[in-house]
Amino acid sequence: MASDEKSLVIIGAGFAGLAAGIYGRLNGYNTQVYEMHNQPGGLCTAWKRKGYTFDACIHWLVGSSPDSSQHSIWKETGVAQGREFVYPDEYCRCEGAEGRTVIFYSDAGKLEEHLLQLSPRDADTIRDFIRGVKMCTQFDFPADDDPPFVRFRKSLKMFFAFMKYGKEFRKWTNITGEEFANRFSDPLLKEAFMEIWIPEFSIVFMLFTFAWLHIRNAGYPIGGSMPMSKALEERYIELGGVLNYNSKVARILTTDGRATGIRLVDGTEIPAARVISAADGHATLFNMLDGKYLDAKTREQYEKWPLFHSLLFVSLGVNRKFDDLPVTVSGISFPLKEPVMIADKVRERLPVHIYNQDPTMAPEGKTAVTVMLDSDHEYWKKLYEDPAVYVQKKDDIAKTIVRLLEQRFPGITEQVEVTDVATPLTFERYTGNWKGSFEGWIITPENAYTMTKPMPQMVPGLKNVYMCGQWVEPGGGLPTSIMSAKRLLKTICKEDGRKFRST
Ligand SMILES: Cc1cc2nc3c(=O)[nH]c(=O)nc-3n(C[C@H](O)[C@H](O)[C@H](O)COP(=O)(O)OP(=O)(O)OC[C@H]3O[C@@H](n4cnc5c(N)ncnc54)[C@H](O)[C@@H]3O)c2cc1C
Repeated sequence: MASDEKSLVIIGAGFAGLAAGIYGRLNGYNTQVYEMHNQPGGLCTAWKRKGYTFDACIHWLVGSSPDSSQHSIWKETGVAQGREFVYPDEYCRCEGAEGRTVIFYSDAGKLEEHLLQLSPRDADTIRDFIRGVKMCTQFDFPADDDPPFVRFRKSLKMFFAFMKYGKEFRKWTNITGEEFANRFSDPLLKEAFMEIWIPEFSIVFMLFTFAWLHIRNAGYPIGGSMPMSKALEERYIELGGVLNYNSKVARILTTDGRATGIRLVDGTEIPAARVISAADGHATLFNMLDGKYLDAKTREQYEKWPLFHSLLFVSLGVNRKFDDLPVTVSGISFPLKEPVMIADKVRERLPVHIYNQDPTMAPEGKTAVTVMLDSDHEYWKKLYEDPAVYVQKKDDIAKTIVRLLEQRFPGITEQVEVTDVATPLTFERYTGNWKGSFEGWIITPENAYTMTKPMPQMVPGLKNVYMCGQWVEPGGGLPTSIMSAKRLLKTICKEDGRKFRST
């Protein structure tokens, strides 16, 4: 296909790539998406084993509430239509060794009461946290499809929220998960806050997470990740977009400070007026463009900013119902009888996600269960130097996890029908994400300025190459990837003097 001035070649059919295609089509661009895998969704994925579905992504979808401004992106991209969301009462549970349990309720009032009961001596820290959560419920940006008077009302509300909470907001942004956890004097509360949040991650995001849970704007979609990815794919195709699977992009072709198109790994060249990479940021800049188009800021980012860690993701199909357990957003963490080395780290507890909120994930009477642990990409890369050792390690880990689960769920060993182990290399192989990261950049106090001053989406030194998705939006996540694509298409429309359309 020849390039024309309205052609957009998009690399990657994850949420950002497909959304770029959708908004591109809605604005009259000829779009072609090239995806290396044979299915849509990128990190928003799941796989089937012996009748079980093991979901490697969705825990909560921000913008699930029709009353929220983020909901419009889910309608525009076809994800919201016909989707059923559930709102568990509990985000997660963190069980202690001596019989006490921290329950992270979704309702902020209930959470406050429970935490105060657990540790009255931490009242100040608890109340401060809940105040922060309530502050975050006040921030709701106007949506593109809001009627003018609603936009006006929401803009006014946002203005006053920033006036009232600006200072406090900045205060929270500068506190990391670890710093906040260390404020608790109760050891279990300290441990629980450390367990549910990444130590370097700014605590302000935890406040937002609990704010969205409280206002029921972060529901779990029944069916999980894959139906959402398929819905995006369907919307894109329905709008006339071209989608090519099994098409890995090797290079972005450039001449005189402009891209002329892309080259696939099989040598096929595709001309384009503009190239959008919605694939991994590191691969885009350092492989597809050979590291030739980098400014000091971008280089620093790839050298210094911390990533969401890579994952050791163990899935189990269990012939058991777990009716005695609460439904949670992200599971239960329990202490091990003694510390155990799993892969590259010594673990003192095990986080378990029991999919009892979604009957579609397992055959009748059975349950899908996952254990998600952080694990170093380098460790696995080294193991893979001998593939037989790598495979053996995965096998050993599956057995270890089942043995440890027996401590909390007696009898489970006999009930496990299938196990599946995905490593950081699995995530890297299937999605191309740098070091197997599951969400791109962590927001830390050092890069939190990107929340108010978004990162540039143009590749430095090239006039018509753009990026969207989690590698240009610290914090990552599904809504962010869609909003990133939308932001980019607004820019492109502006460059072409067109009025942006989202429907
Ligand atoms: C375990 C887990 C839990 C998560 N939980 C949540 C959650 O509850 N809520 C939430 O909002 N987010 C969650 N996320 C994060 C979310 O999945 C990601 O932030 C989001 O999917 C990123 O989308 P993206 O389109 O930016 O990137 P990706 O999904 O990485 O898409 C990039 C695409 O580009 C393709 N690609 C890469 N290189 C090439 C190439 N050279 N040529 C062609 N194609 C290429 C890849 O195959 C992929 O399809 C979770 C992620 C994981 C792994």
